[in-house]
Amino acid sequence: MSLSIPQSNPLANYLAHRVEIDEAIRRTLESGWYILGDEVASFENEFAEYLNVRHAVGVGSGTAALYLALRVCDVGPGDTVLTVSHTAVATVAAIELTGAAPLLVDIDPLTFTLDVERVEAAIAEYRGAIKAIIPVHIYGHPARVTDIMQLATRHGIRVIEDCAQAHGAEWMGRKIGTFGDVAAFSFYPTKNLGALGDGGAVVTNDEGLASRVRSLREYGWEQRYVSQVPGVNSRLDELQAAILRVKLRHLDNDNRRRADVARSYSAALAGHPHISLPQTSKAANHAYHQYVVRTPARDSLRAFLSAKGIGTSIHYPVPVHQQPAYAGRIGSAGELHHTEAAAREILSLPIFPELPADAVKAVADQINTWRA
Ligand SMILES: *Cc1c(COP(=O)(O)O)cnc(C)c1O
Repeated sequence: MSLSIPQSNPLANYLAHRVEIDEAIRRTLESGWYILGDEVASFENEFAEYLNVRHAVGVGSGTAALYLALRVCDVGPGDTVLTVSHTAVATVAAIELTGAAPLLVDIDPLTFTLDVERVEAAIAEYRGAIKAIIPVHIYGHPARVTDIMQLATRHGIRVIEDCAQAHGAEWMGRKIGTFGDVAAFSFYPTKNLGALGDGGAVVTNDEGLASRVRSLREYGWEQRYVSQVPGVNSRLDELQAAILRVKLRHLDNDNRRRADVARSYSAALAGHPHISLPQTSKAANHAYHQYVVRTPARDSLRAFLSAKGIGTSIHYPVPVHQQPAYAGRIGSAGELHHTEAAAREILSLPIFPELPADAVKAVADQINTWRA
């Protein structure tokens, strides 16, 4: 019998919460108010409370959240923003949208997050030129935010956390998104907290920064129809906010189920001669947006699993600095050796809250029969 196991499954998450979501949609449709109303305001309060942060501002996407976060940190043309090349291209696209120049550094090969020693070296090399740092909590594993904050504070650099893959993740017992000056979340449908369309949020403890995001997301208005600064249109809509309010109530439980999937894979694949398993820092509570294994025979493993009906993904196959749009244009501080090696070897296995235990076992069993 052949399997059919997708790598991610936003439909399953909708179906799991269908009654509540359908009710939220109906309520919103019948309210007659579709942009920036009670649903968005309530979601913003509930999401801020969940993270234990003072302000959350709903915006149109994760990319827009990063862009607006950079804008309120006064990042613009002539500035340099340090981040990783091993990320969704959105991180770098958002930097360029502001007119600033991205400066990419390598990752720590064990956690795939920003290598803090490289950050320190880059700050020394680019003296004063680095205006902001974007650590990316990739796959749901937190970057070393406390060390990054310490470095940044000492040098007067702003920190914007890219939390698009890390809703509910924690570092030293504290939620990711509460460490930086400001943080950006995406609610793209496959994320741990996913809308049924596009959405994002900017969160911060700084009242001034939050109110600037509120203004910028709607043309730079402070008062309707009068722009104080040049802004954009990037709003979370009422329907998505109503859906996200439902999904937020289930986020911790969904994340526990992701962690169960990860634990099962790790137990079943431990000691595999050709595969390295994801590592978790002691200080981290991993949100397991992805479960990413590594093997030099990645393409062979991927084709083998595909033939068995098991979906996998590569997050991401081409590092940003090697993509045609950016190749040769973006600066890097030092070699991106670990980034380039990771792109050749990583494979994201099926993981989502509704993935049944027997499917997890079937995936692991197949991997254990594979010969590199
Ligand atoms: C998904 C993602 C984004 C972009 O979010 P969108 O909502 O798709 O714009 C940014 N950064 C990372 C790391 C992501 O995974």
